[in-house]
Amino acid sequence: MESVLKLARPDILTLTPYSHAAWLPELERLHANEMPWRAEGDDSEAGLNRYPEPQPPDLIERLAELYGVDRHQVLAGRGSDEAIDLLVRGFCRAGQDSVIICPPTFGMYKVAAKIQGAGVVEVPLLKDKGFALDEAGILAAWHPAIKIVFLCSPNNPTGNLLDATAIERLCVALRDKALIVVDEAYIEFAGTPGFSPLLDKYSNLAVLRTLSKAYALAGARCGALLAHPEIVSLLQRIIPPYALPSLTVESVLRLTGPKAQTEAAEHIRVLLAERERLATGLQQSSLVRRVWPSDANYLLVECTDADKVIAAVKSVKLIVRDQRAQPMLPGCLRISVGTPDQNQRLLAAIAAAGART
Ligand SMILES: *Cc1c(COP(=O)(O)O)cnc(C)c1O
Repeated sequence: MESVLKLARPDILTLTPYSHAAWLPELERLHANEMPWRAEGDDSEAGLNRYPEPQPPDLIERLAELYGVDRHQVLAGRGSDEAIDLLVRGFCRAGQDSVIICPPTFGMYKVAAKIQGAGVVEVPLLKDKGFALDEAGILAAWHPAIKIVFLCSPNNPTGNLLDATAIERLCVALRDKALIVVDEAYIEFAGTPGFSPLLDKYSNLAVLRTLSKAYALAGARCGALLAHPEIVSLLQRIIPPYALPSLTVESVLRLTGPKAQTEAAEHIRVLLAERERLATGLQQSSLVRRVWPSDANYLLVECTDADKVIAAVKSVKLIVRDQRAQPMLPGCLRISVGTPDQNQRLLAAIAAAGART
């Protein structure tokens, strides 16, 4: 098998990366132009006067353990958004290469591609098959300048898992031809381990995971790219040298241990029950035409009168996401599952507004 790096930008493969100050904790640091004293009130462990260690081994170890992969398969970044950006920059030559996306989907793939000057080829999901992957359409759309296929499973905003066997067939058919990136930001809500167990089998597979959703750490900004070690090393060359703030690293290590894992599992259990209750309740409103099945922590809701629903939820101080500008989603809103109290308030407001029509 050829190296997956054959797909990467040749100029990145030969780039001399920025050489950051050596990390040698046994020596006192007079090599990074930092202040030798902490700021007043700095109660961090590491001291915020010091630059953070790039890709700290204990953080990488924790993420590898959470996601069941080898540490050499992990790149940590500021959310999975950073990994999306690094992938496009590492693999797509501006003005020459392209990515495939499958709308309606997460907006960052297209934005990251455009920022890099890469082309975007759209192969829409099949709405009449429950927003299923158009496997034949992706294969037909592939050409040698396509370097990445972005798949989102469960897909944001439609909520459904994509067919795992179809994704595997794409990994095989596009081996040596394109990177298959599976964004699993919501996989913890889907009751399946996702694609990380298959990383050893397909060197052109990359999986995006995040602590922002199931681990309740969106403000910490930490996500991971799980991929072949060659891809991880390549992207380590282009990630900014001190990408992960010390406060993020310390928070993640503190808040993802065994106790936090148990708590996350319990919150997910409550959320999944609430997701069902919310779906059933919404279905009963005359303002709702259809609630799409969800494998995530939100529902895609097709409304008969979306403006009325938006106004109703706003009247009880809630906000939901308008998806009407997305292709194939007329009248659709995306509603995150909240606490039982928030969901109750939302249902009551929509029921009352529906009764007045
Ligand atoms: C929320 C989300 C992300 C996550 O992003 P972070 O940058 O890790 O916070 C990634 N992909 C999708 C599809 C999302 O909805």
